[in-house]
Amino acid sequence: MTTASTSTPPLLPAVEQFLAAPKRLLIGGEWVDAASGKTFTSFNPSTGEPLVEVAEADSADIDRAVAAARQAYTSVWRNTPPAQRAQMLWKLADLIEQRADEFAQLEALDMGKTQRIARMADVPLVVDHFRYYAGWCTKIHGETLPAGNAAAPAQRFFTYTLREPVGVVGSIIPWNFPLLMTAWKLAPALACGNTVVLKPAEQTPLTALLIGELLVEAGFPDGVVNIVPGFGPTAGAAIVKHMGVDKVAFTGSTEVGREIVKMSAGNLKRLSLELGGKSPNIVFPDADMDAAIRGSLMAVMYNQGQVCTAGARLYVQQSVADQVTERLIESANKMRVGHALDPKTQLGPLVSTDQLKRVTGYIEAGQREGATLAAGGLMDANTAGYFVKPTVFTDVQDTMTIAREEIFGPVLAVMPFETVEEVAARANASEYGLAAGVWTRDLKTAHRLAAALQAGTVWVNCYNLFDASAPFGGYKQSGYGREFGDASLHEYTQIKSVWVDLN
Ligand code: NAP
Ligand code: MG
Repeated sequence: MTTASTSTPPLLPAVEQFLAAPKRLLIGGEWVDAASGKTFTSFNPSTGEPLVEVAEADSADIDRAVAAARQAYTSVWRNTPPAQRAQMLWKLADLIEQRADEFAQLEALDMGKTQRIARMADVPLVVDHFRYYAGWCTKIHGETLPAGNAAAPAQRFFTYTLREPVGVVGSIIPWNFPLLMTAWKLAPALACGNTVVLKPAEQTPLTALLIGELLVEAGFPDGVVNIVPGFGPTAGAAIVKHMGVDKVAFTGSTEVGREIVKMSAGNLKRLSLELGGKSPNIVFPDADMDAAIRGSLMAVMYNQGQVCTAGARLYVQQSVADQVTERLIESANKMRVGHALDPKTQLGPLVSTDQLKRVTGYIEAGQREGATLAAGGLMDANTAGYFVKPTVFTDVQDTMTIAREEIFGPVLAVMPFETVEEVAARANASEYGLAAGVWTRDLKTAHRLAAALQAGTVWVNCYNLFDASAPFGGYKQSGYGREFGDASLHEYTQIKSVWVDLN
């Protein structure tokens, strides 16, 4: 590992201006303080220093936000022509694109992902997502059905379906892709005619608040989107338990996902859950080795490993295991760790002290359980910011903690395998099933594994690719429901059958 600069590069004037303004809750089209008057601090993970104070929503604010969302739903949004909804979503995408640099820098400051990557990947994906769902607004419709009456075959009916919005959606998102997750939740919900109460993660509320500022400019009526930063057990739980919320869309940990299932029972609200993962990534000897090694390293180091799809379990076929491992270690050691705003940085900080503690605990567990720390590890104790080094473990057994549990950090466990059948079984022996990777030039191996792997997404000779059109979600305890594509429309609409007797 080499170190990029840890000093703070200059901020864009627009970002400075945004940071200097009060950070309030967006409820019913107005920026308001929390009813309790409370605020919390968002930190800059590159320095560990406080960034801004943000109004802290709790259940009283959630009540107001849900009431505003309900009012907006019944009085205006449900009846807004789809073409107008499309125009607003498209306009929002344009406004975000115009301020791409600002969004990228703010995301880097608040979350710790590198500004370079935020600008190259997160912001364009966000813009695409709004445009993709802008296109769907005018294409969501019911069907006519050949339904009849079995008891009276001569009787004629006109039977059709209406595809209607669900109503008020509560969206609860994590800190690893704050802006992208905001787009992933808002775009399909709004396209389908729902209104939204969005709770960003307490560590990273800022880019969602900046989106809030653009909503009015894009033409969205008051209350269609309400943004309520706050803590999970208070604001988050209040959304999940609220009898006025018709659906919760959640991305985060499996543990909290399970809680949400229980808490949502009151009004049996619909849920979509995108949860954790411990994704296997499999390298065969016939792969393009340069691409496989580069791709496998990035599969786990991208966003400092704080990606639900991180390829954290690397299975390498025995005959090339030593060679691949050596090259991975060499590449990991070369990665530049540093301030998220420094253009030379390849690995920024983790998001928070909590996350640093969690990842540190896993690195220690790996060593304690007998794996070999072949690259990386912890930083010097006196480093400011929440950094760990790009870390590679060898001599890992499938049963070890670092091979089973989601670390959510830049920590790779490398394990050799012999046969396709064996590696499929080992890859699937996990409670999770979010994603998987396969590196091979053999078509049969690639497609056999794509079918055999229990995962919502399988990447072949690539990793961590996303597109608004490609459904995304988990098998097993990685959650249920699918985001993206037309799959998402089913999550955000409900179907009504209408029977008309024509006799
Ligand atoms: P988390 O606790 O599941 O948080 C995700 C979101 O849920 C945040 O907005 C959080 O609020 C909220 N929340 C927490 N407790 C809640 C509750 N009882 N009711 C309603 N909402 C609640 O995840 P985390 O703390 O950010 O990260 C912990 C671990 O989760 C990570 O280390 C990783 O393993 C996993 N994770 C997975 C993903 C993913 O994409 N699948 C993303 C992030 C994290 P706060 O703002 O208070 O946190
Ligand atoms: Mg922060």
